[in-house]
Formats: sequence, structure tokens, C-alpha cells
Amino acid sequence: MEVAKVIVDVPSKDTDRPFDYLIPKRLSPWVDVGSRVGVPFGNRTLQGFVVSLHLRSEVETSRIKEIGEVLDFSPPLSRELVELSVWMKERYACRQITVLQSMLPTALKGKAERYVALADPGESSVQEQHQHGVLFAAAPQTEGEQRMLDFVKQRGEVSLEQLNRAFPEDSASLKALLAQGLLREYQQIKDKLQKKTMKAVSLSIGLAEARQALESFSSKAQRQKEVLSYVVDMEAFLPLSLQEVLTAVGVTAGTVKALADKGFINIQDMEVQRDPYKGRSFKPTEPLTLTAEQEHVYSRIVRKLESRDHGVFLLHGVTGSGKTEIYLQTIQRCLEQERQAIVLVPEISLTPQMVERFKGRFGDRVAVMHSRLSQGERYDEWRKINEGHASVVVGARSAVFAPFQSLGLIIMDEEHETSYKQEETPKYHARDVAIRRASQAGAAVILGSATPSLESYFAARSKSQEDFEPELLEMPTRALGNRLPEVRIVDMREELKDGNRSMFSRSLHEALAARLERQEQSVLLLNRRGYSTFVMCRSCGYVAQCGECDISLTYHQKANNLRCHYCGYAAPAPEVCPDCGSEHIRYFGTGTQRVEEELAKLFPGIRVIRMDVDTTTEKGSHEKLLKQFREKKGDVLLGTQMVAKGLDFPDVTLVGVITADSALNLPDFRAAEKTFQLLTQVAGRAGRHHLPGEVFIQSYTPDHYSIIHASGHDYLSFVKDELKHRKALHYPPYCRLILVTLSHEQLTVLVRAAENYAGDLKNKADRRGWFGSLDRFSAEALDVLGPVASPIPRLKNRYRFQCMIKWRGNMDAVSLVRQVAEELQEAARDQTLQISIDVDPQMLM
Ligand code: ADP
Ligand code: ZN
Ligand code: ZN
Repeated sequence: MEVAKVIVDVPSKDTDRPFDYLIPKRLSPWVDVGSRVGVPFGNRTLQGFVVSLHLRSEVETSRIKEIGEVLDFSPPLSRELVELSVWMKERYACRQITVLQSMLPTALKGKAERYVALADPGESSVQEQHQHGVLFAAAPQTEGEQRMLDFVKQRGEVSLEQLNRAFPEDSASLKALLAQGLLREYQQIKDKLQKKTMKAVSLSIGLAEARQALESFSSKAQRQKEVLSYVVDMEAFLPLSLQEVLTAVGVTAGTVKALADKGFINIQDMEVQRDPYKGRSFKPTEPLTLTAEQEHVYSRIVRKLESRDHGVFLLHGVTGSGKTEIYLQTIQRCLEQERQAIVLVPEISLTPQMVERFKGRFGDRVAVMHSRLSQGERYDEWRKINEGHASVVVGARSAVFAPFQSLGLIIMDEEHETSYKQEETPKYHARDVAIRRASQAGAAVILGSATPSLESYFAARSKSQEDFEPELLEMPTRALGNRLPEVRIVDMREELKDGNRSMFSRSLHEALAARLERQEQSVLLLNRRGYSTFVMCRSCGYVAQCGECDISLTYHQKANNLRCHYCGYAAPAPEVCPDCGSEHIRYFGTGTQRVEEELAKLFPGIRVIRMDVDTTTEKGSHEKLLKQFREKKGDVLLGTQMVAKGLDFPDVTLVGVITADSALNLPDFRAAEKTFQLLTQVAGRAGRHHLPGEVFIQSYTPDHYSIIHASGHDYLSFVKDELKHRKALHYPPYCRLILVTLSHEQLTVLVRAAENYAGDLKNKADRRGWFGSLDRFSAEALDVLGPVASPIPRLKNRYRFQCMIKWRGNMDAVSLVRQVAEELQEAARDQTLQISIDVDPQMLM
């Protein structure tokens, strides 16, 4: 192979294609698909990725440049991942380089640095001098030049930065040396982060020899003798860290160095891996005997593993049904096949508790990746996988790109979680990427949840999606045989009628008091999402809705009006409730801090552990708070969504939801689904062990189907009700969405661009016979809603408008949406017009 196609890191649309580079002989053993390389591009050196190898180029060879350097001994990306990046760039309408980079830890995002070294003999300028007919060896002309040359000679190569520091005022000498061809300048890509090293001590002579040498130390070198004696003692553990030697023997580094200078020992830099779980032991666990329900599920998945075919399972199991044990045992099977497994969990539930369960079963073979690790730790965990030291990774979204060579299984726990969708480019959904990657690798996928997303459940039941058809596996009972907790809905309208203006209903108040008395624990959930954005009547529960879109109108304080974020409908904010005439209509707002204050007032001396974005910003604080709660240093764990996920505390017997409605009224068509999921999740925290649990859901709309079905733990009834709405209003899973957001500093320019965009898209879709309402009885349809102002209408001094595209069918809507965006951008010749495309958006506000 002589030519490599390379995707380079230039942030421009025109460069989102591979460029040809020659592979120099000296580098050819290192260059492969997936290699990270430094290549000349214009007058710069840029990082790039090799995406394919070829015998020759279609471009004339004299016109293509050589690869400058290879940045890793083994390619950090596999062929499989490179292939996956091609699929992702098309699916999510983004650039391939962005995808490739997001597959690697940030530590590997190299930056070019400039270096200076001695020129090779025969460099161009020397030859030039020859042509002039006078043959003389170039030599430094001044003392300054001589000193600089010696400086470089001594070190071999020097970064420009270092050179400038040593010779601050002397760029003239450098210029002269470069011009005379005595020095050369080049660029190299430097990783953001270096491997961590430590100074290590080992013997540089044989053991017997060292023992003998101990006899011959003079009394002046007693300290050195002690060091050598210690090293000889510890021979079995060599190399030792220098630090250890210093503390153990109680000497200075100088003493050790003197001993090294005499040739007895040597001190070297040794690479160490940062281990975020260092010093923590994990109690080993054995596989449990599966229940009959688990056994059935297990055997279905294992049969697929044995076949080494691709397959997707949707594991719908109630909270506590023992899904995690299924994960553990199927992974075990996968490892026995000498294949590797990826376990994806939502960032928020990546608690030590979760990690412990995997480390406890598979020990050191488990790598962990989440955003609370430092960049260095994440890099080292990644390397552990890349170098084959780990065969299981537990991690958040991006762990789907773990560089395993023979992947056998991908597990996605809580598959309904929105955090699996990345909100910045590349805006991928880890579920779709996981399924795609598994299909390339012949691996199985398990999507697990107590409340599967409607998309996944619908796909499993209808078997009509072209994307994926998961096999549905059900686990309706808890593994330990205990019942799901009793859930009671409290009608907050009644409370107000009876004169209780507190945020706690009388029954929740009583229940809390009883827990304090019995020294049991409670979890209180305040769903802050959506607060202060909608208007609700506290007397009757009325919430203003858009008649066209069936989503809550958003309250805008400045304009004092209500607006629909899908279609743009606006109306003045009402003074009194249009339904019942009550004046208790207002926009809603309560924060965790206010709840905490109220708790302190109601229950003097109550110990509240508050967990929200404010108390968990610091690294490790999340874990610390949970540990406090586990050690029963708190009576109440109060928090936002964070308290709902995956926690397992035996003494929690009460769960209270302060207001269930807040999430229900988000201007998002998934509001009911998210509410149902959250309520089901948090209810599952109560009574997980021997003590029975009780759950109170406070609500102003107690008749809403998502609240009623959540209180009955009735997923199927919820799905049936919800699908009716989705079908009637053409929302996923009955169609797909693409959100196009345009932004510009000038509002008038933006409005024109947004209108042009919508118009062009409609025209082009129409010409292909796609355009039209989804009401039409046709397999293929594409509708364009908007443009309207975005939910965040102005961000960082830029106005924002959006179009929502609804579509169904087998056509390539994404590439049309992208093409129209690119054409508009080109025609506008306005670099400041930005268009962003979000395929299958999750966040609509
Ligand atoms: P899920 O992940 O579905 O919420 P877990 O895996 O956390 O459920 O299981 C709930 C509890 O049941 C855990 O304490 C777990 O140890 C226990 N458990 C699961 N499977 C078994 C089994 N086969 N035998 C005994 N206990 C089990
Ligand atoms: Zn009312
Ligand atoms: Zn609307």
C-alpha cells in the first residue's frame, strides 16, 4: 500500500472528505486504517485519521504530499469504528472528523507544536551553496549562533517554545541558522496529555554481586549502603518506586542518585496507569441461581450469543426484577467466548453502587468511563481497553466506542434515558449507534428498562420498523419475591380547598413524621425540570395548552405571554383561570432549597441531605452524599431526578413526589412518557428489601393517565393510552423528527434565511413527491413545521429560529435536509449564518 486516504481536522464543510497522502517507507509498518497521523495541510501540520489504504492515487503522485508522522504504535481506531463513523456522518448529518474525534478520549486531541533540530546533511541550502561553485561547509557566523547551535546539538531536538525561553532576544540567530541550513524546523502533533510516569529504582548488577558489594561500602557511604540493602531485600518487588525507597529508608534523592552514579542501581521513568478505583477493594460475588423468569430470559440471550449472530433484545423488567444479574451472567458467557462486552448506563446512575456490582463479578477486567473521571484517568481506562487489559467496560454514552477487537455484547441499561442522546455535535443516540456497531460485529444487544421508550417498545411489538426489531423479553416480578410498593395519589387541589397552602399534603406530612419516629428513611423527589415555564391553576389543575400541538404553552415573563414552541401560537397570560375563574393561576416555581427550608420548619431537627445540581458540582460530591445517606446520617434524601435512579437503600420505606405535574407540562410531546418513567423509577426506590414501601405522588392533575398508570405500575396501559395520542398527532414512533435550528446575529437576516430554508425544503420534497401532511394515507410523507423562534430565542447574542420536520417512509430525508442547508449556506455567502441539524431530537425545549 502506497497511498492513504486521510480525514483531516479542519473545521470546514469543504474538507469533509478524505485527502490522499503518500506513505513514506519508514512509516509504512505503522500506517493502517484507523491510524492517527500528522499530515501537512497548506502550511500547517494537522492531525488526521487514515480511513483507507490504496495501491495508488487518482491524483497525480507528484502533487500529493507525504504523511509526516504516525502518532500511535497501534491505531487507536479499528476498521469497524472507522466504518461506523461513515454511517454516523450520514445518519446524523454531521462531519466525519467530528465523529472520529468523539470516538476517542479528549486527551488524544493533539495539537501541532513546532520543533527545531540539526539539519540533515544534504539539506537544500547546502546544495545551493554547492551550485554557486564554492564548496564550503556552512558554519555559524556569530557567537550567538554558535551558542544556539550547541544548545540544539546537545538536546537533539528542541521545541520552539523551549528555544525561545533559552534565547529570548535572539530570533535573528535562529533565522540565520535556518537559512544556512544548519537547523531545520518541523511540526509535530503533541497529545494533550502524556502518559503518567514515575521514577522507578531497580538493580543494574546481579543480585549476588550486589550482596557482595554491600560488604565493601566505606563508612562514609553508610546511607547509600542502606539504600542498596533495602533494594536487595525487596528484590522480588523490583522495580520499586523511588518515592517508596525514599520514605522507607529515610534518605534524600541525592543519596539514591549517588548510588546510581556508582552503577549499582538505575533510576528510570516507568509508565504507570492511573486507576480511579485504586485502593478500593470490591467484594467478589458469585453468580446467583436464576429465578425461572430470569432463566428463560437468560437462555434466549445466550442462544443468540452462541450463534454469534447479531440480535437485539428489549428486556422489559420491573424495578428489582433482577435485570442486572442477567447482564452479569450474559457478560460471563460472552467472556467465555473470548469476546468483550460494553455496558452503557446513564451518566447519572453511574454510582459506585453500580460500578461495584461489575467490579465485584469481573474484577480488574472492568474498565470504567464516565465524565466525573479526570481526563487522565479516562485516557488510562481507555488505554486499558485498547491494549487488551480490560474486556468489560461500564460507562456512559461514549463508551459505545470502546476500542474492543471482538465485541460480543452491548448492554444498555435504562434504555429510555434521554441522556443517551448527545446534545452537541455529533448529535448521536447511543442506542442506534450500539445497534449499528453490534450488527457490524455480529454481537448481541440488550436494551433493558422497567419503562422502555415508546420507540423501542413499539419496534418490538409492531415488527414494522426498518431500523431494528428487538425481541421482547418480559420480567414482570421482583427477583426477591417482594411486592412493588403501594402508590397513593394525593389530589393537591383538595388540599388547597381545605386550606392547606403548604407544599406538603397532610398525608405526606403524616407519613414523613411516622418515618422519623421509626427511624426509617425517606426519599423526596422534586422534579425541577419545567418549573416556572408553565402556567397552572392551583384550584382546578388547568394548564394552558396549544390547540394545534397538544403541548403546554410556555410562559414568557418578559412579554407576560404564553407561547407554543412548535407552531409559534401566542396568547396573553391569563389573569384568572379560563376554566374555573379562580385567581390562583400562576406560573409555577419551587426549588429544592425552598423544600429544604419548609422541611426544617415542619420537622425541627430533621436531617436533610439535598442532592441537586448545586450540591453535586464538585467531583465526588454525588458519591459522598449517597454514602452519608447510606450510613443513615440523613433522614431524608431530597433531590431532583438524581435521586430517582438506580439507588438501592434497604431502609428507605417512603418515597414522596412533591409535584408530579411539573414534568407533565413541559412543552415536549414526550412529557407524559417522561413523567411516567420518572414516577415508576422513583417509586421503585421504596421497600426494596424486607421493609414494605409506600409512595405518595402529589398532583394537581391526579386523573392524568400517566399518573394513574404509574401508581398502578401498569406500563402496558400507559403505552396504549400514550400511543393513541402519538398516532393522532403524528409524533414518534409514528414518524421521525428532524430539528433544524438556524442562528444569526441579525434578526431580519435570520428570518429571511429561515423562511428560505423552509420554502426550499418544501419545494424539493414536493418535487420528489414526499411533501405533504402526515395525515395523507401514504407510506412516504414529509411535513415542515415553522419556521418559528426557538425555545431559547437568543443565545450568546445570536437569534435562533427553528423548523421541525416530521417524516415517515423509506426515503433519505436526512440527506435532503442537509443538502438544502448546505445550499442555503453557500448561496448566502455568509459565514455567520449557522445551521444545525438534530436528527431524532430528544430535547425539544
Ligand atoms: P433491577 O436491575 O431489575 O432493578 P436488580 O438486579 O437490582 O434488579 O435486583 C434486585 C435485587 O434482587 C438485588 O438485590 C439482587 O441482588 C436480587 N436478585 C436478583 N436476582 C436474584 C436471584 N436470582 N436470586 C436472588 N437474588 C436476586
Ligand atoms: Zn381553574
Ligand atoms: Zn402549537
